[in-house]
Amino acid sequence: MNFDLTPEQEQLRDAVGALGRRYGHDYFVAKAKAGEHTTELWHEAGRLGYLGVNIPTEYGGGGGGITELALVCEELAAAGCPLLLLVVSPAIAATVITKHGTDEQRKQHLPGLADGSRKIVFAITEPEAGSNFHRLGTVARRDGDDWLLSGRKCYISGVDEAQHVLVVARTDDATTGKLKPALFIVPTDAPGLTRSKLDLEIVSPENQFLLYLDDVRLPADALVGGSLDAGLPALFSGLNPERITVAAMGAGTGRYAIERASTYTATRRVWGGRSIGSHQGVAHPLAHAAVQVELARLMIYKAATRYDAGRDLEAGVSGNMAKYAAGEAAALAVDTAVQALGGAGMTTEYGVATLLGAVRAGRIAPVSREMILNFVAQQVLNQEKSY
Ligand SMILES: Cc1cc2nc3c(=O)[nH]c(=O)nc-3n(C[C@H](O)[C@H](O)[C@H](O)COP(=O)(O)OP(=O)(O)OC[C@H]3O[C@@H](n4cnc5c(N)ncnc54)[C@H](O)[C@@H]3O)c2cc1C
Repeated sequence: MNFDLTPEQEQLRDAVGALGRRYGHDYFVAKAKAGEHTTELWHEAGRLGYLGVNIPTEYGGGGGGITELALVCEELAAAGCPLLLLVVSPAIAATVITKHGTDEQRKQHLPGLADGSRKIVFAITEPEAGSNFHRLGTVARRDGDDWLLSGRKCYISGVDEAQHVLVVARTDDATTGKLKPALFIVPTDAPGLTRSKLDLEIVSPENQFLLYLDDVRLPADALVGGSLDAGLPALFSGLNPERITVAAMGAGTGRYAIERASTYTATRRVWGGRSIGSHQGVAHPLAHAAVQVELARLMIYKAATRYDAGRDLEAGVSGNMAKYAAGEAAALAVDTAVQALGGAGMTTEYGVATLLGAVRAGRIAPVSREMILNFVAQQVLNQEKSY
């Protein structure tokens, strides 16, 4: 058992942290409030190779794994820059294409994903299906050699910044009538694909959209893996990286908030000589949150290590637990930090309340805490399914 990063991973962690701190939370918030994107940070991270750490070297990536990408997500978030698109583009889309794309799809998409010049976002959620993706209503129909896609998606992050969206559709399996998922790489400017922005109460430079697919015509080579049989494994291959990296982002956000608050409470004096942090009523909640964040980190890197070792099923259990733990820990850490900062906690200047919406959403998306508890109850505790 080894809980230490390798020297290369430590170097990566420190370098990404330094980059994140150069931009910082003020930059992140200023971009969000101006309705702009963190383009400079994204491109610099791409140039430095941080966005492609998990992409094979032959396509311009770093040849590492999800452990390295989790470090990137955690460190940027710990610097106050939790970039959600790291979870959809390098974690989900790059993994799906690396593992299940055709040679042509790898050549076409991976180099751009690795250097950050290309973003591919991910669309599975639908208004009617929600957490139950077996009810997906977006349908892919054959039309000669082409495919026609029709349906609706909601809460899709980053469509305005991306060149492509990885759409999860269904084809009816004639033998069982059950969902047979098929993944398509759809250009965001494809005729028939329209979007409208959803207003969410999250301070974020990244936006969510409703997507409407109205007979979007796609060539045969838009189908991931070039075969319908690739659909299910391709879809599942994106889930563990998604859970692990979003958890890493949560843990980084928790670290950031605790650091902001503890720096403040160590020096703020309102009762004569002692700092407010000397009062256990202030310090213990912060210490408790720090313990929760560190516990989540342990599970995140356990999950990432298992995933990178090809132990997908075990990584699934750890990845879900990590996502649950990090989601709860991040929400606790930010709320506790706001409280410890008092009135300053609610100001934009102190840069903590700006994260309240994001960490609250982290208990819902990309998979809700309840659906993780269902997974653990069923898969680990062998409980019957109620739905
Ligand atoms: C900021 C943000 C970004 C997002 N980005 C993306 C994206 O890029 N791509 C994408 O595809 N989706 C995205 N989503 C969607 C997200 O994945 C869904 O919101 C999430 O999976 C929950 O689905 P739902 O909102 O339909 O909730 P519902 O399925 O309607 O669930 C509502 C509530 O009921 C609970 N619930 C439902 N079923 C059960 C059950 N069987 N047992 C116990 N509780 C249950 C849920 O946990 C939840 O609390 C994003 C969402 C947000 C908020």
